[in-house]
Amino acid sequence: MEKADTPLRSVLHTIQQACKRARRDPGDVTLVAVSKKHPASAIEPLLLEGQRHFGENRVQEAQEKWPALREAHPGVQLHLVGQLQSNKAEDAAALFDFIHSLDRTSLVTALAKAFDKTGRQVPCFVQVDVGDEPQKGGCPVSELPSLLEQARDADIPLAGLMCLPPADIEPAPFFAFLDKLARDHGLEGRSMGMSGDYPTAIMLGATHIRVGTALFGQRSG
Ligand SMILES: *Cc1c(COP(=O)(O)O)cnc(C)c1O
Repeated sequence: MEKADTPLRSVLHTIQQACKRARRDPGDVTLVAVSKKHPASAIEPLLLEGQRHFGENRVQEAQEKWPALREAHPGVQLHLVGQLQSNKAEDAAALFDFIHSLDRTSLVTALAKAFDKTGRQVPCFVQVDVGDEPQKGGCPVSELPSLLEQARDADIPLAGLMCLPPADIEPAPFFAFLDKLARDHGLEGRSMGMSGDYPTAIMLGATHIRVGTALFGQRSG
């Protein structure tokens, strides 16, 4: 009998199968392992297995965990997947390699300033509020064109669009909608899909899936 699969191998296998069905190249889908609320001891095994893209949702937690992990494991790419306060923009620019939560004009201004100051140009996904849930963050769909224009004017590197569809209802229409918005605006990246729905997101064009629970188990608190 084969050795039991690790959670990472199982998720990678599911990604491969979804790509096969969608006739997509698995190399075009980046698995972002969302390690928020998990300690370094839970992250190390994935690093040892070769996983390099990780996501965190709080700047301070990431500042506490990642400098040491990064030193021990070269090549880590860190993604900010949670809401970002403007006063943390500089810290975020210094630490993260991708930001998935650009969602308002004030943050465009703060990030442009932070990129100037840190000398880093961090690619950003514009988060879109596809389900009319302002509490989750995300730019209202009607304001997306002007926000993209502001970001382009401020020389923010745009990686694509991101969404966090409403919980407990079929996500496919929201993924399809984000895919269409990205196409309409000439953006390549689609950050969509989590533990419960990433195969569907891949079928509908996800380039970055953000998976926590399926890799790390339940989060406490
Ligand atoms: C926590 C989180 C995830 C991962 O969710 P799981 O259901 O644990 O896979 C993905 N995206 C964002 C924005 C998150 O905050």
